[in-house]
Amino acid sequence: MNNYEILIAGYGVSGKAAARLAAFLKKSYLVLDEKEQPDLPDALAPWNAAEPLPYHFQTAVLSPGIRAGNPLLRQIKAASDRVIGELEFAAENTDCPLIGITGTNGKTTTTELTTVIFQAAGEAAESAGNIGAGLSDGVIAHRNGSVDRLIVEISSFQLERAESFPVEVAAVLNLASDHVDRHGSMEEYAKVKFVLANSARKAVVLNSNLVQERKMFLKTDVPVITFSAYDQTADLTLKDDWICWRGKPVFDFNSAALKGKHNAENMMAALAILAAAKGEQMFVCQPVLDALKNFAPDHHRAECFLEKNGIRYVDDSKATNPHAVNAALEMFRSNDGKKNILLLLGGLDKDMDFKELIPYLTSVKKIFLAGECRQKVAAALAGCCDMEDCGDFRSAARKMCVEAVSGDVVLLSPATASMDEFKNYRERGNCFKEIVREVTGA
Ligand code: ADP
Repeated sequence: MNNYEILIAGYGVSGKAAARLAAFLKKSYLVLDEKEQPDLPDALAPWNAAEPLPYHFQTAVLSPGIRAGNPLLRQIKAASDRVIGELEFAAENTDCPLIGITGTNGKTTTTELTTVIFQAAGEAAESAGNIGAGLSDGVIAHRNGSVDRLIVEISSFQLERAESFPVEVAAVLNLASDHVDRHGSMEEYAKVKFVLANSARKAVVLNSNLVQERKMFLKTDVPVITFSAYDQTADLTLKDDWICWRGKPVFDFNSAALKGKHNAENMMAALAILAAAKGEQMFVCQPVLDALKNFAPDHHRAECFLEKNGIRYVDDSKATNPHAVNAALEMFRSNDGKKNILLLLGGLDKDMDFKELIPYLTSVKKIFLAGECRQKVAAALAGCCDMEDCGDFRSAARKMCVEAVSGDVVLLSPATASMDEFKNYRERGNCFKEIVREVTGA
């Protein structure tokens, strides 16, 4: 039987990064993937879920794509001394200081913003993890001397199998219904997110609304810093549009390119992380304050990309659960209480509770339903709002553009995944933009 140090199980984005790190560390490794990999003629193992693997591995690095019920997992476990995820593999091969950011929504925005403000504070910080290729590439960059801190975006899938993940500061941004299809229950989902919080060595940053979860799952003595755009008892708060640190105004949120209360919370989390890692003097560090002001979020996140004839058009294709949609509805509702939002909802369900949208629908004029789960959405929201079943995405997008009048917001914020009709949320957002431009002649 052949022995290898590492098995890379699944050669997707994170598997490829793990393989690069294994090669960099000069470890012997083999890759397992159901598809042929032309660039791996020597390192590819046969993929047969029914038969034992004819090898022995010290460590198997498992792709988050290989789920608990996959029959291949049994063979991988039988052939390996231990099975870990790419994050753990990368983390155990580095002494680079790590920051971990998780939550249902806002991970990418907060990870990017945190990276930018650490850079403004003079560090060679880089984003890593879920946001890019994988933590392994960041670890290689640190070993090569080009990075001195890694800000890691972490999804619940990546934490699923981890018992801990050693970070200096951990942040849990928020928790709402998402991925329940994968985790089985909200409680299990919350528990997985708190694996990260419980691993922090220096501080935990938490949304102050996670009261129950904190009681149930937080098992650490490190200081906890709370933030909230709604609760004035948190350490970081939003008061008269200023971000305040324990009651003292530190940043005028109105001056920022980032908009919306949800983004104020992302900014507070980023500031809390920076202060926890480098001290409270960071709240008055001018380059940091400048970076907060100038930071703009990525495309497809509550992105107002066109204003024409008094109508605003917003691509929020990345809103793949009701909680993210509610953030957009809060951000774009009219100040005079009039119904001003035309909302495109629907796509691929993840066992989500669409009733969570109901309290936020007061500003919605009409819902345009599309995609695979549109009937489930219609049933959950029955009687709350004017709705039309448009069938597919493109018809819904066209229809809402035709019906919009001056003062309206045409909002794609679908509360679902995109893979029923698109490759990913980016393709869905770009398709929406194209249709808007075509119909409006912009
Ligand atoms: P993630 O990486 O967790 O998916 P993103 O920053 O990519 O987060 O944003 C995803 C979606 O969630 C977008 O629709 C965005 O407008 C929304 N969003 C971002 N931050 C928050 C937040 N703190 N609370 C609720 N929704 C948010």
